[in-house]
Amino acid sequence: MFDNLTDKLDKAMHVLKGHGSITEVNVADTLKEIRRALVDADVNYKIAKEFTATAKEKAIGQGVLTTLKPGQLLTKIVKDELTELMGGSVEGMNLSGNPSIILMSGLQGSGKTTFSGKLANYLKTKKSKKPLLVACDIYRPAAIDQLHVVGEQIGVEVFSNRDEKDPVKISEAAIAYAKQNGFNAVIIDTAGRLAIDEQMMKEIADVHAAVKPHETLFVVDSMTGQDAVNTAKAFNERLNFDGVVLTKLDGDTRGGAALSIKSVVDKPIKFIGTGEKMEAIDVFYPERMADRILG
Ligand code: GDP
Repeated sequence: MFDNLTDKLDKAMHVLKGHGSITEVNVADTLKEIRRALVDADVNYKIAKEFTATAKEKAIGQGVLTTLKPGQLLTKIVKDELTELMGGSVEGMNLSGNPSIILMSGLQGSGKTTFSGKLANYLKTKKSKKPLLVACDIYRPAAIDQLHVVGEQIGVEVFSNRDEKDPVKISEAAIAYAKQNGFNAVIIDTAGRLAIDEQMMKEIADVHAAVKPHETLFVVDSMTGQDAVNTAKAFNERLNFDGVVLTKLDGDTRGGAALSIKSVVDKPIKFIGTGEKMEAIDVFYPERMADRILG
């Protein structure tokens, strides 16, 4: 994960490591390299530029030119800033409501169905919830089958109705079913398309308006870089979602999505997906991720 970025940041800061006395030019060069590393990792140029401008201010303000260990100080400044960039403190999930209603959104292939299963498993095993999964993809029967497979794997019931073509009605029926049968969390997996289109957006916005979820999550494939950020923007404008789920962080992602999404949509990353298995879900901790990026 982020190997390339870690490597480049390490190289950028190498000059300052072990240096007893450094100059403003050393610091400026290092920051330029850091900016380049961020842009190469698919971080939006403007964000990368702001990042290094703030780091420079802090570095000078905190006496990087006079400290005995400038490398250490700059590493700390960069780590704090990376943490801030990815959201600062940890954001929990809103599990109020009985049942708590969780709406999943995102493009097809983002990992939405897989994550719905992972989340159901997480709520069941870690939060002692009794979740119900709801299949709302009215276009792809295979997607409904997939959710049933996932449900069986983790021992969670799946609500579906292959004859109903209105996702609002399916969702409402599922919530009524949950109330009658003692489920205290309802996870609604919606249809996704390969690209954003008005019909999909209207459909999910209608479900959102009808069920008034306690938590709306936007699922995005971290491998898609800048596109991930654009997709997040489009979904957020329509749904004003509560948090982001970054999937496929186990792959060869350059990391740009993780580093840019929070500052573009101002919504926290809440979970990450790190594999295809049902257990491959983690709560997102910005500080831990910053540590990992810095190697
Ligand atoms: P959906 O169309 O958004 O519902 O996406 P799926 O849940 O069907 O996932 C699409 C593909 O990505 C499947 O092959 C999943 O196994 C895979 N996938 C989902 N999440 C992850 C993840 O965190 N890591 C990896 N490596 N693969 C994932």
